[in-house]
Amino acid sequence: MKTADFLIVGGGIAGVSAASRLAPHGRTILLEAESAFGYHSSGRSATFYHFGIGKSVVRGMTAFSRAHFESPAANGLDLSRPSPALFIATPEMLGVLDALEQEMAPYSDRLERLDVAGVRAIVPALNCGGEGIVAGVIDRAARRLDSEALQQDYRAALKKQGGEAIADARVAAIAREGGGWTVTTAAGEKFAAPVLVNAAGAWADGIARLAGVAPLGLRPLRRTIIVFDPPEGCEVRDWPFTKTAVDDFYMLPESGRLLACPVDEVPDEPGDAQPEEYDIALAASKVEHYTSIPIRRINHSWAGLRTFTEDRVPVAGFAADADGFFWLAGQGGYGLQTSPAMSVITESLIAGTPWPAELTDWGITPAAMSPERPGARRG
Ligand SMILES: Cc1cc2nc3c(=O)[nH]c(=O)nc-3n(C[C@H](O)[C@H](O)[C@H](O)COP(=O)(O)OP(=O)(O)OC[C@H]3O[C@@H](n4cnc5c(N)ncnc54)[C@H](O)[C@@H]3O)c2cc1C
Repeated sequence: MKTADFLIVGGGIAGVSAASRLAPHGRTILLEAESAFGYHSSGRSATFYHFGIGKSVVRGMTAFSRAHFESPAANGLDLSRPSPALFIATPEMLGVLDALEQEMAPYSDRLERLDVAGVRAIVPALNCGGEGIVAGVIDRAARRLDSEALQQDYRAALKKQGGEAIADARVAAIAREGGGWTVTTAAGEKFAAPVLVNAAGAWADGIARLAGVAPLGLRPLRRTIIVFDPPEGCEVRDWPFTKTAVDDFYMLPESGRLLACPVDEVPDEPGDAQPEEYDIALAASKVEHYTSIPIRRINHSWAGLRTFTEDRVPVAGFAADADGFFWLAGQGGYGLQTSPAMSVITESLIAGTPWPAELTDWGITPAAMSPERPGARRG
C-alpha cells in the first residue's frame, strides 16, 4: 500500500493541474486509467482561450488564468500564443451578437465591432451579405493554447515537487477506511490518502459511486471536429477562431488546414468517444453553408466529451456527504482555458492557501464553485 496526503483520480488537464498545485503541500499521487495522460477530453479539444463561452464564473476563471498561459513553461515550450477570436452574425443573430459583445466587454479590452467589410477582410471565404454574415465582433485578447505543452508542464511541476503521476492505474474500488480513502486499481495496487480528488472527467459520477458518494448527475455531451484542406492558394494561417454568435458553427486554422465543428452536443456515455457519420456530414454541410469553401475530402475527424453540471458551471469543493472527497468536475467546454484557475481554487480549498482577491473581484467564491450549490446537481 502506497500512502499519500492527496490522491487524484484522472490524468486529464484537471487532474494534472490540480496535482501540480497540491504537490508543495504534501505527498501527491495521481492515478490515470489509460497508458497515456490526456487521452480523453483533454487531448481532443479545440485548444482555444476566449470569452465567448460560458457564464460569468467561467469568464472570470478564464480571465484569471491568462497570466499562467502567458508565462513561460519550464520545458521551454510556449503554453499559448495570441490568436484572435471572431464572432460572426447573420441578420437574425444580431441580437445575440450584441448581447455577447456586452457579456465579453468586462473581460477583454481588445474587442472591436466589425461591419460586413471588416469581417470579409479578415476571413474572405465567409459567405457575407444578404442572409449571410453581416457583422462581427473580434476579440484580439483571445489565445491558442498548446494542450500537450500545458499537460507536460503541469506533470513536470508535479514531479519536480516530489509528486507522482501513474499511468495504467484504473481505479476499480474505493473504500473509506481509518479516516481516509483506500483506492484499489484494476491491477490490484493499493493507495491511501485522507483526501481523494475526483478529477475523472466524464467518469466523475462513476468514481463518486465507487466511493459511496452521491453522484451529481453530470452530463457527458459528445462534440465532433473535422479537418480538411482549404482550396489551393487560400492562405488560412492567420485566420482567427471564427464562431457564429449563436451556438451553430466554428472553424479555426491548424497547420495550414482548417478544423470545423458543428457545435454538436450529443448525450453520450463516458468512454472513448468516436465521431458519428451524421455529425461529420453536419460539420461539412455547415462549412459549405457559412463559407465558400467546398469540402472535397475530410482528412480526419475526432470526437470528445464535454461534461457538464446541471448549471454548466464547474464544481470544485468537498462533498457534504463524505469527508475528504473533493469534486473537481464539470469543466464542460472550457476545461483547458480555466485549468489554472480551477487548480488554484483546488489548492486554496484543500491546502488552505489564501483565496485570490482577483477571483473574488470576478465574483468567484467557494460557494459559487461548491458541488453543494443550488444548480450543481441534476434532479
Ligand atoms: C471537441 C472539443 C472541443 C473543446 N474545445 C475546448 C477549447 O477550445 N477550450 C477549452 O478550454 N476547452 C475545450 N474543450 C473542453 C476540454 O477539453 C475539457 O473541459 C477538459 O479536457 C476536461 O478535462 P478533464 O481533465 O476534466 O477530463 P479528461 O481529459 O477526460 O480527463 C479525465 C481522466 O480521468 C481518467 N479516468 C476516468 N476513470 C478513471 C479511473 N477509474 N481511474 C483512473 N483514471 C480514470 C480518464 O482516463 C481521463 O484521462 C473541448 C472539448 C471537446 C471535446
